[in-house]
Amino acid sequence: MTEESTFWAGLRRTLWAAAAGSLVGAGAVAWFDRTGMWLAPLALAAAAAVAGVVARRLRPTAQQRLSNGDSSLPVLSPLAREVLERLPDPLLLVDTAGRVLFVNRAMREVIGVGAERKHVSSLLRTPAVLEALAHTSASGEPGAIEFTFRVPVERHYQAYTARIGSDPVVTTLLLHDLTAIKRAEQLRVDFVANASHELRTPLAAVTGFIETLKGPAKDDTAAREKFLGIMGVEAARMRRLIEDLLSLSRIELNEHVPPLGEVSLETIVREAATALAPLAQADGITISIDAAEGLPKVTGERDELIQVFQNLIHNAIKYGREDGKVAILLRQMPSAGRRGADALVVASVHDDGEGIPQEAIPRLTERFYRVDVKRSRERGGTGLGLAIVKHIVNRHNGKLTIESRLAEGSTFTVSLPASRKSVDAAVTEVL
Ligand code: ADP
Repeated sequence: MTEESTFWAGLRRTLWAAAAGSLVGAGAVAWFDRTGMWLAPLALAAAAAVAGVVARRLRPTAQQRLSNGDSSLPVLSPLAREVLERLPDPLLLVDTAGRVLFVNRAMREVIGVGAERKHVSSLLRTPAVLEALAHTSASGEPGAIEFTFRVPVERHYQAYTARIGSDPVVTTLLLHDLTAIKRAEQLRVDFVANASHELRTPLAAVTGFIETLKGPAKDDTAAREKFLGIMGVEAARMRRLIEDLLSLSRIELNEHVPPLGEVSLETIVREAATALAPLAQADGITISIDAAEGLPKVTGERDELIQVFQNLIHNAIKYGREDGKVAILLRQMPSAGRRGADALVVASVHDDGEGIPQEAIPRLTERFYRVDVKRSRERGGTGLGLAIVKHIVNRHNGKLTIESRLAEGSTFTVSLPASRKSVDAAVTEVL
């Protein structure tokens, strides 16, 4: 109903009421004429009362007004409106005809703005949701269904429908976003599948060789030596994988606990490089460390940070060029708007190896993601090294950046906030 027609309907009702009131009033006045003017105020009061009753009788119910398309009906009090508006879950209210009466902020993000007064079927295209709404609106039975929006990005929701109120009858649709829960569930399922697959391959090899050694190669000394060697390699692979899995779950468990120690990143990097020197030598790779003078310490856990740089330097060796160079640089940088730290200590590990395709870079820290699975396995990789690095760096309130050019090499940079104590001490020394 337009504003104009609402106005005329209102005027018509008022005129009817006034006419009824006037009739009563006129009758009363005619009678007062005989009895005396002192009764006139009483007659007017009676006329007003009758007019009020008639007007109320003629006024349509809220439900009728809704059915007539009067969307100006205040279905919600200002307080209720405000509360629903701020609700983090998307919510909308429809009338019995399926027209939208109210949409909160979270719902506007899902279905867009300007939804009020439109029919809900022009806003939500999921038949199951529309059916649930219609069923609840007609029967009064509440409903709960799961559904998925595929575009623009896949999102999973649980939709709850309920009928509330009697005049007017309103049906609510409340959405609960399940996307993060579904994603976590999927990650967990993939993780278990990947971990089992990674363990199954070496385990199958070891089991196969045991059978061969028990049977056909029982008395073949040369074959036995060869197979035992391979079994040793496969067993070591399983051990590394289990160690990495355990490290990852330990780090994840502590990720929200800030580290306490205070350590020199240079000492850590040197320790990690020394431990890997024999591996680098075997490939003819030289490792150089260039650390700026007077670097502040960082707040961190020594063992975890050693693991970060062991993983990065080990990767630089594994995927580096034979007879190539691994260059590690340590610098202090001003922190760009970080809370609680005035400076950053930045350590970058650069290799001159095969490099990484640009599209693979964002995925490198995913568990079990490898650019070349065969090459990673040949080099003893588990596919978990960078996932461990990312979790440790997160726990230290730091940042990991990866830059790479195919055939030129890669640079993995870790930035960690300098410890406040350490920065204060350095300032005092300068003064
Ligand atoms: P992996 O045990 O396979 O080395 P990581 O998690 O350490 O597992 O690394 C994931 C993948 O990232 C590797 O399989 C490799 O494809 C790629 N990668 C990591 N570091 C480098 C590097 N320095 N140069 C080229 N590729 C790298």
